[in-house]
Amino acid sequence: MTLDDAIGRIAAESVAAPTDLPPFDASAMDGYAVDATGLDHSTEKRFEVIDESLAGRPASSTLSAPRHAIRVFTGAAMPDGATAVVLQEDAVRQGDTMITNAPVHRDQHVRHLGHDVRRGSRLCCRGTRLSHFHLAWFAACGIEEVTVSRRVRVGVFSTGDELADRGTPLKTGQIYDSNRFAITSLLREKAVETFDLGCIRDDPNLIASSLDKASRNTDLIVTSGGVSVGDADYVKEAVARIGRIEFWKIALKPGKPLAIGRVRHALFFGLPGNPVSAIVTYLLFVAPTIDRLGGHEPTPPLTLTAAMDRKVRHSVGRREYLRGTLRSSDGQLVVTPTGDQGSNRLATFAGANCLVVVDEDKGHVGVGESVDVILLPDEGAHLMHS
Ligand code: AMP
Ligand code: MG
Repeated sequence: MTLDDAIGRIAAESVAAPTDLPPFDASAMDGYAVDATGLDHSTEKRFEVIDESLAGRPASSTLSAPRHAIRVFTGAAMPDGATAVVLQEDAVRQGDTMITNAPVHRDQHVRHLGHDVRRGSRLCCRGTRLSHFHLAWFAACGIEEVTVSRRVRVGVFSTGDELADRGTPLKTGQIYDSNRFAITSLLREKAVETFDLGCIRDDPNLIASSLDKASRNTDLIVTSGGVSVGDADYVKEAVARIGRIEFWKIALKPGKPLAIGRVRHALFFGLPGNPVSAIVTYLLFVAPTIDRLGGHEPTPPLTLTAAMDRKVRHSVGRREYLRGTLRSSDGQLVVTPTGDQGSNRLATFAGANCLVVVDEDKGHVGVGESVDVILLPDEGAHLMHS
């Protein structure tokens, strides 16, 4: 496919450079191209300026005589015979004469052909997730097309009799379906084709037929709700009927009722219904699975160590992921949980920039105690310091 469509896709083959970069010896600065051979570093040197070479407009002359110079600008081709560039700042110009007192070393301020990339060298391996930076590099090498893996097909539906679609007024007892929106929105960051299969009522037959249909044209099915121990939790049973549940329940908070299985060739992730649990289990389990299915080995998240600035109650037994705000204070990283961490409270994600990991073998966390922190993905982050 063309580079224009390749952002975020996974390279299906390694990519080799079709050209050298730069494709010719070029000046790295504005100045004068000269031949450094035999020049005395300590004394004044005079040159006759015989021509100029601009970026895209090379000089027609060559440096055939010693003490000839050609005016050059950044990115311009080095004239034949030139071996160094005298910086404009180190030169004085008098008519056709250029005078410099600075030492002139061979190769100074010259970017040699292929010094960034050699023709045929590997720009990225198979399985690389193509970033803006990869694509910029490919563009610089004149690459027009890359071969990428097929997008992973993901079917998403939510379950719950209480769920209403946005845009419809809520009846008593109803809430809006946010999980399907959250998951399909998170999926936009991935190399996937998403099938939004709507919201399915708490009916084992309907759920089974939705799973059955989804499994025919997807690689992965992600549902939310109905995997806990309530009377209307039919999802596991429906999966077991037409596929199998590989495991259910994980020592995690939030996200304990997570169910994982298979329906025909499709992998199945039954995320818990609580909105925070659905997002956390998506980030921890579904997102890396999608990467793998697409041929990309996910890199483990960068784990930072920060000082907790609140007391947090935690009992041994389950690993907990708290939403938190990480900041730097007097050169140290400090993290504050974003208030009540109830798994129904999407408010805990508002203002959060990280997840704080409290390990399963840990008790309460005291003020100032070191904790592991992983950053939440944030496409909107900018790098300028205030
Ligand atoms: P469940 O896992 O189906 O028992 O749901 C647990 C809680 O999450 C309940 O309070 C549900 O109302 C809520 N819930 C389930 N699905 C969704 C959804 N798609 N969007 C928002 N809340 C949900
Ligand atoms: Mg439910």
